[in-house]
Amino acid sequence: MTDPIEPAAPDAERKALLDIPFGEWFRALSLTPALTYRARQVQEWVFLKRAKTFSEMTNLPAALREDWEKRFTLRTLVLDHREASTVDGTERLFFRAADGVLIPAVFLPGRPDDDGEPARYSLCLSTQAGCAWACVFCASGRTPFQRNLTAAEIIDQVFLAEELTGKRIGNLLFMGMGEPLANYDNVLASLRAFRSPLAFNIGARHLTLSTCGLVPQMLKLADEGPKINLAISLHAADDETRAKLLPKASHWPIKEVLKAAWVFQKGMGDGRVTFEYIMLKGINDSEREAQRLSNLLREKKAWVNLIVYNPVPELPYQPSDEAVVRAFEKVLVDRGIFVRVRKPQGRDISAGCGQLGGPQAVL
Ligand code: SF4
Repeated sequence: MTDPIEPAAPDAERKALLDIPFGEWFRALSLTPALTYRARQVQEWVFLKRAKTFSEMTNLPAALREDWEKRFTLRTLVLDHREASTVDGTERLFFRAADGVLIPAVFLPGRPDDDGEPARYSLCLSTQAGCAWACVFCASGRTPFQRNLTAAEIIDQVFLAEELTGKRIGNLLFMGMGEPLANYDNVLASLRAFRSPLAFNIGARHLTLSTCGLVPQMLKLADEGPKINLAISLHAADDETRAKLLPKASHWPIKEVLKAAWVFQKGMGDGRVTFEYIMLKGINDSEREAQRLSNLLREKKAWVNLIVYNPVPELPYQPSDEAVVRAFEKVLVDRGIFVRVRKPQGRDISAGCGQLGGPQAVL
């Protein structure tokens, strides 16, 4: 497959401009107060025109562009390889950072909106190289943690995915490799860029961050973050089962996670909180578990995404049978809870939920 871009080589010497908050660009770009409008011009080139280098910014003085080119880079990642599903058009993109770590992202064509809006192109992006949270069913959890991604590396996944696919991404899912809230500062900086009308201008309803329930960071984000959708990986309705599936995240009991979820919801103007629930055969899929789950969420504005498990070859877990998923769903629906059974995408290339990592992503 021919790549439509020739990405700039990542450069450990130059600083990534996108790691600097917009409000500080004019200072970083050595512009005097009289020339702050130049920073705005750079912003337009970066976000509206998707410039990859300063040399493309033809309405800016050449001397400035040359100086900036020496000091800053607008891209921090390059494409390492890509795999396309022949079944549903999903693409798994592997990017490489300047220090060599591999960063997976998944391009999802036409993922329908929960509310029936026209389909948008989505990107499921990573926030860490590897993951330290060791959720037992997750391929990413088997990739040893290497480091947090910078804000620029998180943002670059969107730029590169757009350049590679030729499509504008309208829906972002922080659901790739890593626990986003364990990389709080860089994730917050990227969320601000994605939401900002001067940058990506992606609406709150099209930006979903998934967490396995880091209570202190959930509360912090509710207090200072931009409006977004929160998806909490619950995966169990009792602490004992949750401790087996998410041994580290279960440090916070379900009761505390839910309390933080409702605080977050209130902070977001009573927006929706989604609970992700992976259906694992014989482990968390009984009707009794469904009743417990409905007891936890009843009377709240909560959505449940039932995710049919994508098997990972090295792991012993199996997806629940379809009849079991439907019976589980019915218990929730009968008790007035919004439920959606998530259709797996990209299974043939291991790009489904929980399949991003694994040995192939380890250096
Ligand atoms: S589910 Fe998320 S937090 Fe848990 S191991 Fe996988 S990537 Fe890490």
